[in-house]
Amino acid sequence: MPQAHSLKAFNTFGVDASCDQLFRFHHERDIQDWLAGMPIPVDKFFVLGGGSNLLLLGHIPLTFLQPDIQGIEYEERGEEVIVTAGAGVNWHELVMDTLDKGYCGLENLSLIPGNVGAAPIQNIGAYGVELEQRFVALHAVDLFSGEKKIFRHGDCQFGYRDSIFKRELRGRYIITRVQLRLNKKPQLVLTYGPLKALADSADKLTAKDVSDEVIRIRQSKLPDPQELGNAGSFFKNPIVSHEQYLKLKEAHPKIAAYPMNNASVKLAAGWLIDQAGLKGYRQGDAGVHQQQALVLVNHGKAAGKDILNLAAYVRDTVKAKFGVELEPEVWIIGQQQVFQ
Ligand SMILES: Cc1cc2nc3c(=O)[nH]c(=O)nc-3n(C[C@H](O)[C@H](O)[C@H](O)COP(=O)(O)OP(=O)(O)OC[C@H]3O[C@@H](n4cnc5c(N)ncnc54)[C@H](O)[C@@H]3O)c2cc1C
Repeated sequence: MPQAHSLKAFNTFGVDASCDQLFRFHHERDIQDWLAGMPIPVDKFFVLGGGSNLLLLGHIPLTFLQPDIQGIEYEERGEEVIVTAGAGVNWHELVMDTLDKGYCGLENLSLIPGNVGAAPIQNIGAYGVELEQRFVALHAVDLFSGEKKIFRHGDCQFGYRDSIFKRELRGRYIITRVQLRLNKKPQLVLTYGPLKALADSADKLTAKDVSDEVIRIRQSKLPDPQELGNAGSFFKNPIVSHEQYLKLKEAHPKIAAYPMNNASVKLAAGWLIDQAGLKGYRQGDAGVHQQQALVLVNHGKAAGKDILNLAAYVRDTVKAKFGVELEPEVWIIGQQQVFQ
């Protein structure tokens, strides 16, 4: 029986958790070779990135695989540039590298924690930009067969914090490299929330200026996981029908919402949690962040199950007040019946 491997340093909630084994790979070839000689069934694997979107519950009887594949390469194609980055490259370091080279496109996604390999999984997004707008292709290894496969944009079925890798292909592939499309000339996106204030001076701004502003805003409102354990937004912003939105607006005229299309509206989950009176609420060391109600935090010694219980309480309280069901954005790994 292998000794449990601690995962405390591998999750930004900073909860005590462990797995059966953890293997780290530096090359795609190593993953294929390892799989070829490995009798463990594929449902016993879990692919780990930077651990910034996970809630881990106690001992997890799985083998964790972490692709620590490095390297960033650029290929100029006319006005565009294709960047290819290894799955183990830190996402923010990639964004900074592209900006240092004078290329634009990822500036709104500055300072999102985690690694490049995880970015397509939930189609990371912030400040009006989603990964899919820049996505070209990804390279992956099939954990069943050990074969390499390339997924292009249409194969990934991207949605809001969603892709095929969260559904039909959940846990099936280990992403090894990601290719993104950048521009040589800025095409700034200043349509979202606090960035709108920059729109008047858009012609004088560089992509680096936008990145600096995104970093400034993020640092002023989001807790740093190094100081206060968290996994960013715990819940997704719920999407409701236009009809349900109109009813909610009648009862709560200030409800924070973003129209998606004619049929549906995205509600700000943080606003719902705040209005349910839960900002700063604590159950022991598991808490709702004092400034950002969408972020659940570990004040010190919370276990994964403490944060899970708090999340269930938040979900139930919001449901009772607004009739809206919150779904977790983070991956909950380990035995639990609270969220499906
Ligand atoms: C403070 C904070 C702020 C955040 N802000 C944002 C934000 O603005 N927007 C946003 O979208 N997200 C945000 N997040 C969430 C998180 O940063 C992203 O989801 C990120 O992409 C997770 O990367 P990771 O490497 O840490 O993945 P992990 O948490 O390790 O894994 C996440 C999922 O991806 C899978 N996975 C990881 N790597 C691979 C791979 N190579 N191949 C196959 N599967 C893989 C895992 O199995 C798991 O299912 C935030 C998190 C924190 C802590």
